[in-house]
Amino acid sequence: MAEAALIDGKAFAQALRARVGEYAAAFAHQAGRRPGLAVVLVGDDPASQVYVGAKGKACAAAGMASFEHRLPADTSEAALLSLIERLNQDEAVDGILVQLPLPGQLDEQAIIAAINPDKDVDGFHIINAGRLAVGQTGFVPCTPLGCIMLLKDRLGDLSGLEAVVIGRSNIVGKPMAQLLTEANATVTIAHSRTRNLPEVVRRADIVVAAVGRPEMVRGDWIKPGATVIDVGINRLPPEPGKDRGRLVGDVAFAEALEVAGAITPVPGGVGPMTIAVLLRNTLIAAYAHAGMPAPEGL
Ligand code: NAD
Repeated sequence: MAEAALIDGKAFAQALRARVGEYAAAFAHQAGRRPGLAVVLVGDDPASQVYVGAKGKACAAAGMASFEHRLPADTSEAALLSLIERLNQDEAVDGILVQLPLPGQLDEQAIIAAINPDKDVDGFHIINAGRLAVGQTGFVPCTPLGCIMLLKDRLGDLSGLEAVVIGRSNIVGKPMAQLLTEANATVTIAHSRTRNLPEVVRRADIVVAAVGRPEMVRGDWIKPGATVIDVGINRLPPEPGKDRGRLVGDVAFAEALEVAGAITPVPGGVGPMTIAVLLRNTLIAAYAHAGMPAPEGL
């Protein structure tokens, strides 16, 4: 059988960012201000600093305003809640993102609950989780929304396809399963207590792996021709003489390539979609905030 096709998330994300940039310029022209995203970072976690920096740069590149709030690690809950309230009221801010994880003294659920759901561009507020659960329009978490975009682009209609989502986190697995259900796939959610995971995965026309275990899904778990979306981002220990280890996904890529119909690489698959969808969600929030109809095709 021929090798699997590569699903080029990087190219898809670039095209989405370009479309968002065009609409952001049109929005600024009509509304008299740029769409604005506020990003809040508490503490000095190095990975979070990289993510927040990347989000700020992506906003600027798309012609959006980015408001960065970097707070010390010992920030109190009252201080963070008061910042969120200011951002909720701020007319220049369309989207609010609080970078997770938060330091231990802060209750993540309470902080997310304080964000105005209409500015919750990460889609983590329970109002938005509820909207997704009952099929209403709302903000959907960026990573699973990016995955469903890639799947629809690759496969077109997903009706009746068997989909297995490995992982049940609120950020990826659960919303992913809901989006696939909404798209009329037959969905199984597998997780750490699933019995005989390889058997379950072998049923799937679509496999979405969101586990956080390097190369856990082996090639012989995959049904020939299946479409594989690898959400995992895992860094292996460095090889001798190297400073940093390789980045790998949750799927044993070289093995899966021999069996699957199509697969996302790591890096360059799902990863670039997350920020592109964040910009897209912020633009949608801006249109709604300004009382203007959102453009089609985003
Ligand atoms: P999480 O730790 O919150 O959830 C992991 C899930 O995997 C859990 O629901 C658990 O039940 C399941 N699991 C754990 N061990 C398992 C096993 N042996 N068999 C089957 N299921 C098992 O993680 P998350 O936030 O959902 O992220 C998952 C992965 O996706 C991580 O590697 C993370 O870095 C990556 N991620 C990537 C992006 C991106 O932008 N590409 C965004 C978010 C997360």
